[in-house]
Amino acid sequence: MAQSRSSHFPAHYVGRFAPSPTGPLHFGSLLAALASFLDARANNGQWLVRIEDIDPPRETPGAATAILRCLQAHALMWDGDVLYQSTRTEIYRQACAQLLEQRRAFYCTCSRLDLANNNGVYSGRCRHCLERPRQLCTIRLCTDALDIHFDDAIQASFTVNMARDIGDFVIYRKENLPAYQLAVAIDDAAQNITHIVRGFDLLDSTPRQIFLQHCLHLPTPHYAHIPVIANSQRQKLSKQTFARALNNANAVDNLLAALEFLRQPLPPKPHTKSATNVLDWAIAHWDMALIPRRDELYGDALPPRCRHFAT
Ligand code: GLU
Ligand code: ZN
Repeated sequence: MAQSRSSHFPAHYVGRFAPSPTGPLHFGSLLAALASFLDARANNGQWLVRIEDIDPPRETPGAATAILRCLQAHALMWDGDVLYQSTRTEIYRQACAQLLEQRRAFYCTCSRLDLANNNGVYSGRCRHCLERPRQLCTIRLCTDALDIHFDDAIQASFTVNMARDIGDFVIYRKENLPAYQLAVAIDDAAQNITHIVRGFDLLDSTPRQIFLQHCLHLPTPHYAHIPVIANSQRQKLSKQTFARALNNANAVDNLLAALEFLRQPLPPKPHTKSATNVLDWAIAHWDMALIPRRDELYGDALPPRCRHFAT
């Protein structure tokens, strides 16, 4: 299920779409897939797909296959093989062991109650705990008073102080599963990702991932966060808010609605015969500067074609 573009030169642009297989794709995930795809293709870049299946309790059987079929139905064809994070747990475990060894990480046995104080910033209570305790525990990364700065290609630039604003964060969960932050930082580097385009809901995670890149001596890609679509109660479209699965039979209309959300020009009639036609036109006319510099769009701010996805 892959379309390969071989190149003898290291790519100057490698983008990616990294869905978690918790359910079928909905309109909110199509926005992230489409924006990352168009930005990659408009820059003659590669576009990779990575299935983030490291959270079995939240996954639904068959979701990964359904996601890939849905991407194909929308002509969002990726390069190379799909990477499944579930095949890489040993790599995450080793990275975590290395951080423990370097005393950059520690075991944390705090209860929810212990964590409730301090405005959500971890107190440092278990920092001394470098041996695995008997009881269930998480593994946290030690943060220091470092300022992490990044210039988002769509939003403003951000500076976050790791110790003050975020605090020691979890890199291994108590279920003995790698945390999203750790797996993403490792795999973006392993796949040589140079540009990340994703939803604004992940902006909070970006300084954590950049900090992890520093700790693991990995390069930092460029970031762009697109606004998310929310319903009238201002909840982001997601499985939790019962976002409907995309209908593959409406691929052209779904893509037109997504282009309209991203404030891109819409192709005239002869270019809307197939999803491939729409995408070819959209690649040629892609302009990231037109994307609204907003965290979310909902209600009246939604262009007409998008409204029925947000009910
Ligand atoms: N797997 C994450 C999600 O579906 C996205 C990861 C990313 O784009 O960094 O929310
Ligand atoms: Zn603790």
